[in-house]
Amino acid sequence: MGGFGWLWNMLGDTSGRNQKRSIALVKKAESLLDDVAALPDEQLSERGRAAAQSEDYAALLAVLSVASQRWLGMVPFDVQLQATLRLLEGDVVHMATGEGKTLVGAMAATGFALRGKRVHCITVNDYLAHRDAQWMRPLVEFFGLSVASIGEKMDSDSRRDAYRCDVVYAPVSEIGFDVLRDQLIVRPEDAVQHGADVAIVDEADSVLVDEALVPLVLAGSAPGVAPAGQITEIVSRLTESEHFEVSEDGRTVFLNDRGAAVVERELGISSLYDQEHVGTTLVQVNLALHAEHLLHRDVHYIVRDGKVQIIDASRGRVADLQRWPDGVHAAVEAKEGLDVTEGGRILDTITLQALMGRYPMVCGMTGTAVEAIDQLRQFYDLRVSVIERSAPLRRFDEADRIYATVEDKTAAIVQEIARIHATGQPVLVGTHDVAESETLAERLGDQGIDVVVLNAKNDAEEARIIAEAGDVGKVTVSTQMAGRGTDIRLGGADESRRDEVVELGGLAVIGTGRYRTQRLDNQLRGRAGRQGDPGLSLFFVSLDDDVVLAGGAGESVKADVASDGRIDSKRVGDFVAHCQRVTEGQLLEIHSQTWKYNKLISDQRAIIDERRFDLLHTAVAWEELRAHNPQRAGELEASGVSVETLEQAAREIVLYHLDYGWSEHLALLDDVRESIHLRAIAKETPIDEFHRIAVLEFKALREKAVRDARETFATIDIDAEGAHLDDLGLHRPSATWTYMVGDNPLQSSGNSVINALTSAFR
Ligand code: ADP
Ligand code: MG
Repeated sequence: MGGFGWLWNMLGDTSGRNQKRSIALVKKAESLLDDVAALPDEQLSERGRAAAQSEDYAALLAVLSVASQRWLGMVPFDVQLQATLRLLEGDVVHMATGEGKTLVGAMAATGFALRGKRVHCITVNDYLAHRDAQWMRPLVEFFGLSVASIGEKMDSDSRRDAYRCDVVYAPVSEIGFDVLRDQLIVRPEDAVQHGADVAIVDEADSVLVDEALVPLVLAGSAPGVAPAGQITEIVSRLTESEHFEVSEDGRTVFLNDRGAAVVERELGISSLYDQEHVGTTLVQVNLALHAEHLLHRDVHYIVRDGKVQIIDASRGRVADLQRWPDGVHAAVEAKEGLDVTEGGRILDTITLQALMGRYPMVCGMTGTAVEAIDQLRQFYDLRVSVIERSAPLRRFDEADRIYATVEDKTAAIVQEIARIHATGQPVLVGTHDVAESETLAERLGDQGIDVVVLNAKNDAEEARIIAEAGDVGKVTVSTQMAGRGTDIRLGGADESRRDEVVELGGLAVIGTGRYRTQRLDNQLRGRAGRQGDPGLSLFFVSLDDDVVLAGGAGESVKADVASDGRIDSKRVGDFVAHCQRVTEGQLLEIHSQTWKYNKLISDQRAIIDERRFDLLHTAVAWEELRAHNPQRAGELEASGVSVETLEQAAREIVLYHLDYGWSEHLALLDDVRESIHLRAIAKETPIDEFHRIAVLEFKALREKAVRDARETFATIDIDAEGAHLDDLGLHRPSATWTYMVGDNPLQSSGNSVINALTSAFR
């Protein structure tokens, strides 16, 4: 053990102190164990409640430990108790893969719930939410607490019931969409969530850092702006360089003069850039270009059951119910010759970072927290506590093998896998996208190696497959996040051939390229060497890899290249590491810049939330309208319509205009943000300018919402059935779609719809 001394310096004194205190407290808890273990069930549960309420953590941990043993058959390790304590005190714990974070999270959740707090245990997907809730249920319920999980397929009634539980396991996206949907209701009883006091985030760095700026978007139906078939057809015949250019970073595509001329000729119009075409035809051409030349089948999406399904790039999994906004989705459908579905109107959106900001307390756990210390502190004011491994790490991390070109690299990867596989040692290969997985699997297949590919096309079985990845002779090819959270035991899920695999050196993890951050590399490495198992990790790199190109822009290194393309030079190794540090820096910079924009919107949303809450739960809408227009209010009261009906009618009128205004406000900020970039060129400080405009516009939105509500109130028909908003053309949009995009959709407007979208795929 030990070896973490250097970390305390990095983490700061507080963390070191906390660590010492935790260890001491756990010692104390262990000294109580015998007494506590002698308690019969009922007294044990009572003791736990009393200890939680008086914040006697030593006693609480002792009770949780005994309860875990009794009800889950697991005796928590002392490091697990330490981690539980760190969660109860609001930290993010750094705890390696396989060390038992699920139990840690559940013990902390139980501790919080015993103090009367409502807890959301946040997972990265439906499968894990369900698994963890089922697995940990006996522990939580033993204390008379309730537990449930939320899944994508649940209807609102069962969601509402589930959210009433003390401990709720849910994927972050479901929680977010429920928050958004609850912002559109007009009756308080329709809300499915009831607030929560604590969020315990599993795989905390994924949610809090990697996906922090992913906006969850709720969209209602609106006629699509899909490119007409003719446009799709014309665009598919254009070629890069000759007719259009793709920006260096691969995120934007635009027609050049020759391309524009071709399109104009074929469509029989004089200029795409004429007033009449700019907002329509040109947009459609750009959408079609984007769909045709930037979004690639099996990399960015797959076609299944006649539908376009987006692949979540970071996980390599199909993101169900997700759409690209503003016509891009329809454009891809057109490109694939599928039925074009409707386009959407954005009703509301929230980033995961803003979502997490709604919780009074956030804590979490992950195997790669140390690598995210800066972000966690800067964006969430969270501290990291490092929990040592219960058994020392026996994984061997080999130095990167660097090649000149991608072809050389791929050949070497295939050769190395074949070599390892010939010994029987199981291999887990981490790729960057689905297409790469497929290519590699094919190459390995050609060598007569049986490969299991884990990607978006078989996500339902992901967990089951990955559980077997540690068995003799297995070769599993997977995108980075696929199957995360599932334990890879040596010798198969039942460990029946464990000894044999240990003898062979454990699981070998092979990365086909460095990721954009070392943290992501470490997530992959962490798959091997669990709980003191032997293991190996090895990354291959080529000088053509994205991370090298993006991070080393312009720079180049000279080195001797062997006949197989291998570059064995310390200087080049350092260069690759340097490139990765550059891309890490870029990501952090983008994150903090983008967050500055989002933060303001998030603050404004909080004001809207508060206003909505009052409107929903009080008669303030009716009171305000009556005060402004007593004559109309008097007539209505005299008409015999009940007070409750009038109050509800007023509520619906005011909410309609408020929600409509908010949705318009989001669209407007979108445009502002676009034009701000132009002003930046004119040397104004863009973020200050954005703030100034956003604040003014927000004030205008609120005033207009009130004005419009008053106007509607003056003329609308209200009878025993309530307010007839529809008669005035004031249709409440239905929240039909939910989707996630890789950046703020507010950034996207007109042409640069495109800009915002593609970062999802990087
Ligand atoms: P992590 O999330 O940290 O990667 P998991 O929570 O998935 O780890 O647990 C990994 C494995 O360790 C599981 O199979 C679990 O049953 C087992 N485990 C965890 N804690 C204990 C314990 N205290 N005693 C025995 N087995 C444990
Ligand atoms: Mg886990």
